[in-house]
Amino acid sequence: MFVEILGFKIYKKKKSQILEHIDSYPKVNIISGNPEILFNGLKNEFLYKNFHEETTLIIPDGVGTVIASKLVKDPVEEKIAGIEVMHEIIGRCNEEGKGIYLLGAKEEVLSECCNKLQLNYPGIKITGRHNGYFDIYNCENIISDIKKGNPYAIFVAMGCPRQEEFIARYMNELPCKVYMGVGGSFDVIAGNVKRAPRWMINLGLEWLYRVSKEPWRIKRLGSIPKFLWMVLMSKGRVN
Ligand code: UDP
Repeated sequence: MFVEILGFKIYKKKKSQILEHIDSYPKVNIISGNPEILFNGLKNEFLYKNFHEETTLIIPDGVGTVIASKLVKDPVEEKIAGIEVMHEIIGRCNEEGKGIYLLGAKEEVLSECCNKLQLNYPGIKITGRHNGYFDIYNCENIISDIKKGNPYAIFVAMGCPRQEEFIARYMNELPCKVYMGVGGSFDVIAGNVKRAPRWMINLGLEWLYRVSKEPWRIKRLGSIPKFLWMVLMSKGRVN
């Protein structure tokens, strides 16, 4: 079910099995395990602990993580993009009348994201929403708003490590079943940012597309070779 990479347990089955797997947790924190996020998990003691909790499910989001699984000779069955898992969960909530809460992004992006979701999933119950620009250490109003709507899932789109820190900090006191940091996904759903064409996604080149559209991202790509180097160095230990 899992491959171990740098001490993290990464889900290795197909995306089509993920909803069933999510059901096996009483509460679950889904981490989009790309090299950048896993690096944050290694550097930040609070996140390190959170990423190792029983309630954490790390998915192999990113070609760097897929290559790492090959390096440790226990390849994942496929790359799983966080945004696709998010859509699977929302699809299920739509069918089963379960609520979702959207937290993150700029106000206009969030509002457009809600409109698009409402259009594509006509039965979806959005119990509440809040933009991602607030003090995560002092946000009682948002916490009580989430509790009031009692959603099944909360999607947090505030970039890494802010979104992971928010979830790690509050998931015990919140009533939701599914917690997921989704990075720039609200921008994609709102139509502000496009995902790469399918052929690039299939070739593992989504990162190249994003850098071509947002060149400042090039700095963040440095985490991929660093991550792979660490995996190579630790190979003897983790396997
Ligand atoms: N964001 C936010 N609060 C912040 C910083 C960022 O809500 O304090 C939002 C930002 O508006 C954008 C998303 O977080 O919608 C950033 O996603 P990014 O592209 O960095 O994430 P990635 O997909 O690369 O993980």
